[in-house]
Amino acid sequence: MKKVIIIRYAEMYLKGKNRGFFENAFVNNIHRSLRGYEYELIRQSGRYLICGFEDGYSAEIIEKLKKVFGLHSLSLAYEVDSDMDSIFEAAKLVAKPTGTFKVISHRGDKTYPLTSMDISRKLGGMLLAENHTLTVDVHAPSFVVYVDIREQGKALVFGDMIEGANGMPVGTAGKGLLLISGGIDSPVAGHMMAKRGMNVEGLHFHSYPYTNMQAKQKVIDLATVLSEYTCGMHLYTVSVTHIQEAIHEKCKPQLMITLLRRFMFRIAERHAKKIGAQCLVTGESLGQVASQTIEGMTSSNSVVEDLPVLRPLVGFDKSEIIERSVKIGTYDISILPYEDCCTVFLPDYPAIRPTLKEILAEEAKLDVEGLIAQAFDTIEKIKI
Ligand code: ATP
Ligand code: MG
Repeated sequence: MKKVIIIRYAEMYLKGKNRGFFENAFVNNIHRSLRGYEYELIRQSGRYLICGFEDGYSAEIIEKLKKVFGLHSLSLAYEVDSDMDSIFEAAKLVAKPTGTFKVISHRGDKTYPLTSMDISRKLGGMLLAENHTLTVDVHAPSFVVYVDIREQGKALVFGDMIEGANGMPVGTAGKGLLLISGGIDSPVAGHMMAKRGMNVEGLHFHSYPYTNMQAKQKVIDLATVLSEYTCGMHLYTVSVTHIQEAIHEKCKPQLMITLLRRFMFRIAERHAKKIGAQCLVTGESLGQVASQTIEGMTSSNSVVEDLPVLRPLVGFDKSEIIERSVKIGTYDISILPYEDCCTVFLPDYPAIRPTLKEILAEEAKLDVEGLIAQAFDTIEKIKI
């Protein structure tokens, strides 16, 4: 019996005139996520079918598809001849061994001799006769058997609807540059923007040799997990070692993080413009740490000239962020011990509410432009 996967898409439905644009992106993303598998993608009214894959790969393919944004739900279906005996053979495989059920039928082919009601009634009867532990419950069944009569004498029979990632297809909502650390939050922030259709590229700051190669590998590993949702991405790495050394040498130690973050945002904005990204994305959440107070955010934001800084986690509790990171598969990597550049030369007491006047006075001791130029000399591009 041939297996096919039915794909139903999400919010794109609403997009009227732009629907072609959304669907093209959606289809491209499906192809990208299934690269390496043999299959065929067929468009049907309001949905897609994946056929022609090797049976043994169906579970893997479903796992990949569950990460494609814009996908509302999917089902693994049996494709059979549309006579009732063949439909019954497939329905037996779909039905649970015991419990309550109902049959929902749909005729794509209106020339089929039975009405949808007839099909449901007849198939229900056949299943009841076959297995006496089953009972019909049309209001709250424990499982449903779906029958879909197609053209050319074929029918699809399936059971569970598997929930997809929903959201919008990546590539339909511009491009953002994610400031990605080795922590828990930033990969989740990137995932949330991708869910709304944004193309996400990553920028990571390191302090090699104060931070080691494992720290870099960790960020590559995080980006690799994230890229399954973003349909591929680039990770750019930039060294800020010389900037931290300059701050350490010349400025008040309690302003290390504040000053460093202002450099990060400046570098990020310039790099975003170079790669055509329209915004910066961070994993900041209000009040989580000293640098994420509203004053801290204002201080780092104020060096960004004209790109918006999106903080999709700003109102989230840490526990909510952790829950998401477990779900998307980044948590286990994020909690591995690592040295972030922000922990190098860390003061005992960071300033929680430094005034802008104080910050500017300290910054005036530094050759800001020279340090930024030097940082760009260290940039590396990694294709994930
Ligand atoms: P995360 O878990 O994402 O590291 P955090 O709670 O540790 O966040 P901070 O270290 O203050 O918080 O970082 C806040 C945000 O700044 C991060 O979410 C990330 O977007 C950005 N950021 C921090 N460190 C780096 C880094 N080394 N490279 C790139 N971006 C960074
Ligand atoms: Mg961090």
